[in-house]
Amino acid sequence: MKMYINGNWTSGASEMDVVNPYTGQPFETVPLAALEDVERAIDSASRGVVAMRALSAFDRYEILMRAVDLLKERRQDLGETITREEGKVISEGLLEVDRCIQTITWSAEEAKRLYGETIPLDAAPGNEMKFGFTVRVPVGIVVAISPFNFPLNLVAHKVGPAIAAGNAVVIKPASDTPLSALKLTEVLLDAGLPAEAIQCLTGSGAAIGDALVSNPAVRKVTFTGSQEIGERITHTAGLKKVTMELGSNSPLIVLPDADMEKVVAATVQSGYSNAGQVCISTQRAIVDKSVYADYLDALTPVVESLSTGDPMKDAVNVGPMVRESDAERVENWIQEAVGAGAKLVTGGIREGAVVRPAVLADVKQDMRFSRDELFGPAVGVTPVSGINEAIKFANDTRFGLSAAIFTENIDDALKFALEVDSGNLNINGGTQFRADLMPYGGLKDSGMGKEGPRYAVEEMTELKMVIVHRS
Ligand code: NAP
Repeated sequence: MKMYINGNWTSGASEMDVVNPYTGQPFETVPLAALEDVERAIDSASRGVVAMRALSAFDRYEILMRAVDLLKERRQDLGETITREEGKVISEGLLEVDRCIQTITWSAEEAKRLYGETIPLDAAPGNEMKFGFTVRVPVGIVVAISPFNFPLNLVAHKVGPAIAAGNAVVIKPASDTPLSALKLTEVLLDAGLPAEAIQCLTGSGAAIGDALVSNPAVRKVTFTGSQEIGERITHTAGLKKVTMELGSNSPLIVLPDADMEKVVAATVQSGYSNAGQVCISTQRAIVDKSVYADYLDALTPVVESLSTGDPMKDAVNVGPMVRESDAERVENWIQEAVGAGAKLVTGGIREGAVVRPAVLADVKQDMRFSRDELFGPAVGVTPVSGINEAIKFANDTRFGLSAAIFTENIDDALKFALEVDSGNLNINGGTQFRADLMPYGGLKDSGMGKEGPRYAVEEMTELKMVIVHRS
């Protein structure tokens, strides 16, 4: 496919392959954008800003709702594209398209809700003749940089609100998975978005990222990806609004009164979907000693029953990781944990880019497995004594994106919600829950700012204060 700049589908000076993670074979190419392409895209987006200003909120709503209709029509192709370029199983690929449809629908609705408010200036002494109100306006150009693991819906979470708010947007999708973003761009153009209001630059973030985020015409950078790149962008962007949706190593606490069947189902769904490559995957199961053996006994056969293999086949539960090198990394981390005293209960065997879903027991807090983000199909299990130690362990991380607890005790559940430092707190549900309308974003090194169309629109607009000095 070509990239989309300056109102045209464009080739670059060179190309890169898009590789199917399961077969390891290239099946498509996209251009490698160069620095001149960044300049052209941002110049064009500046004209896109003017074109967007000419649209009413209702126009923006209608464009996004037409995009929803087209997404529904193209659901199968988009789902297969996601699976082919990212490697998640086809049921998850199609689910991602359905979620994208919801994300764009909610974004369309937010186009109608850009409210200001009147400010009672006469409440300040001596201001009886002042009248004030606020207006919410688009920032201008939004740069949207996305990761590989949800190549459609995480682009939609940036592009939908950007358009709803009246901005022009420059997308830089992950190099592993550029096709879904290009197809979403096609959908939006077919839905009637002004040509220069959207640009989609494919190519290496390391080569063009600094130029994109440091450009002074850009007023907002919204990034989803790793903590390392997020930190770099935050420094390089300078005085701009930034949203950072970064990684995590989410904890799931199991207390003695937990419903074990529910806990196991939640651990499997939250630990192994998309081969564990989800920012809110359960990585650390923190289990009360009194039910530690029961938990492992109940979890292990269910994990062993997960089938791995070709993600296009309906019967397969867990597909490949995005790159073989990532599968090797996961294999190494598991071996390192075992070397340091953890016990491999099941899985962890690698074939190409596919890693058998793994359960590690007796994982210690100081192991890399507990400290960093694994982003792979393995759950580490650690025994604790009681709620206080469980919360202490859950918080013993630099991340804070999602956490879960299983208990029937309301006091323990509330203590967890109040004391665990995390953006999402799930009570009797797994860490991997996201409804696309909810405010979503991490604490600590998991990032800053929130996504979810209503919240992203706020982050992609400026509030202006108007003061009428009456006489
Ligand atoms: P990544 O390596 O950080 O890449 C993310 C994006 O940043 C890609 O488009 C990448 O382009 C680009 N990039 C690389 N270097 C750049 C630079 N110097 N300047 C600007 N952009 C640059 O992350 P990933 O491996 O794709 O995704 C996995 C990470 O995303 C995990 O840490 C995961 O937890 C996190 N994540 C967070 C959320 C959330 O909502 N909090 C959701 C999903 C994923 P290239 O591909 O060309 O390198």
